[in-house]
Parts: sequence; C-alpha cells; structure tokens
Amino acid sequence: MKFEVLILGTGSATPAYGRHPSAQIVNFNEELFLVDCGEGTQMQLSRFGIRSGRINHVFISHLHGDHYFGLPGLLSSMHLNGRKNDLHVYGHPGLKEVLDLQFKYSETQLKYNLVFRPTSPDNPETILQMPRMRVLSFPLHHRVPCTGFRFDETLRASKHPATRSYAYCSDTRAFSGYMDAIRNVDLLYHESTFLHEMVGRAAETLHSTALEAAQVADRAGAKKLLLGHYSARYKDPEPLLREARTVFRESELAVEGKAFGVMDVFFNGQLTVDN
Ligand SMILES: [Zn+2]
Repeated sequence: MKFEVLILGTGSATPAYGRHPSAQIVNFNEELFLVDCGEGTQMQLSRFGIRSGRINHVFISHLHGDHYFGLPGLLSSMHLNGRKNDLHVYGHPGLKEVLDLQFKYSETQLKYNLVFRPTSPDNPETILQMPRMRVLSFPLHHRVPCTGFRFDETLRASKHPATRSYAYCSDTRAFSGYMDAIRNVDLLYHESTFLHEMVGRAAETLHSTALEAAQVADRAGAKKLLLGHYSARYKDPEPLLREARTVFRESELAVEGKAFGVMDVFFNGQLTVDN
C-alpha cells in the first residue's frame, strides 16, 4: 500500500533560486493529503500531474504566508472547476476568518462544502481518523501559533503488525515539547532553515538549524530525516545536508518533485526506501 511524501516546495519566507514555498502531498493508498499550501502550490500540483480534485484534506501548519498564501487560489480553482466533494481544511482558527473575508469580498459562494476543523496551538489532538490512517496535530514553537502533523497508518489488529508513520515539523525552534508526538516515526520532515553557524538568527526567528533538526531526529528515534524550508541565503542546500549527517546519517534533502517513501523498518527488511 502506497505511503509516500511528494515535495512541492522547499523554500522559506521569500522566493529564491526557483524554490517554491512549503507544500507537500502525503499519498496514502492514493488518498491525497495536502500539507501546507504556500503561494503557487496549485501551479506545482499541475506541474507534477496532480489533479486538485483528488485532494480531500488540507492541513495548514500556521498563518505565515509562505505556508498558506496558495490556499485561497487553490480553493477558488476547485470552485471554478465545479468541485462537489466536501473539502476538509485543518488549521489555526484564524484561517477560517481569513478565508471567509476573501470569499466575502470576491462574492464567492463555494460550490462545495468547506469543512473547517480548527487545530489547537496548545495540545496534541487527533484531528482525523480514517479506516487505515490517523492524523494528529501537535504544537510547535514558532513566532505565531504553529502545529505539526503526524500521519499514522493504522492496521486491523489481526493483520501485519508493522505500521508506518510520517511527521511534519515546520516551522519551529527545536525543543523537547514535541518529542513525544514524533517519537519513532519512520520519516520525519523537520525544517532546517539555517546552518548552525546561524544559530543566533535561528533562535531569534524561532527556526531550527540543520544540526538541530538532526539532533531532534536522533533523540526522537526517527528512522529517516527529511530537511526543508531552506533560507534564501543558501543557493545550494547541500551544506545543510552535510551538517545534518554529522549527527544523523539517514538525512536527506527535500527536493521539489521528488517523492519519499514511508517504509517501516520491519516492512521489507530495509530501513527506508526512496522512490
Ligand atoms: Zn513561519
């Protein structure tokens, strides 16, 4: 059963070197979950051949523009394309207000039902339970309320004992508060905005360095780490990868258009496998 993460954007606050802002598709058994929706995400979807009509759940980590400015455009296109299915959107309560205002002044009456589920900036909570998948939101530590998301495969008790999990942490200062929520994930995406020589700037802006992301992965017992949210100061993100690997060997760079499989350690005898 497919469980993979397709990267749509790897940049941070401002556009740089052709990188798009944060967005990714979690594909679980062909059910598509959109995680963050930076500006231009619908262009990235079309670039990588993903019909937006296949997305039924959208998770927004926080209300900095590089994580959601693409959402009004995507929601409008779904409307114009005649979408009928409910769309479930998860995010800070303020997101509903922002979207309502946008639709109010564009005099848009969505043709589909937008089901908004606020996330809690204070407590971890299960926000979605499907027959084979459970999604948890959990607080991160950023300049504005921000939540991470954890996707857990859930199998019927009598079946194969292995289940796979993926956690998404962006944006955040590395700290111990979310360690329980990401414990033992097979794949951890963790922002790595800066090299550790910029740790002062990371602390100021409540972001993380590549070294800190690697320490988090190590302490949490993650099997594999995916770095992203690269600062505009880095044309080439390779030094971020080299830095992370000094602490956590199983680190990889998120690359736009690349899909990363979420593989359980017991699933096929391998730690993790890239597609
Ligand atoms: Zn942010």
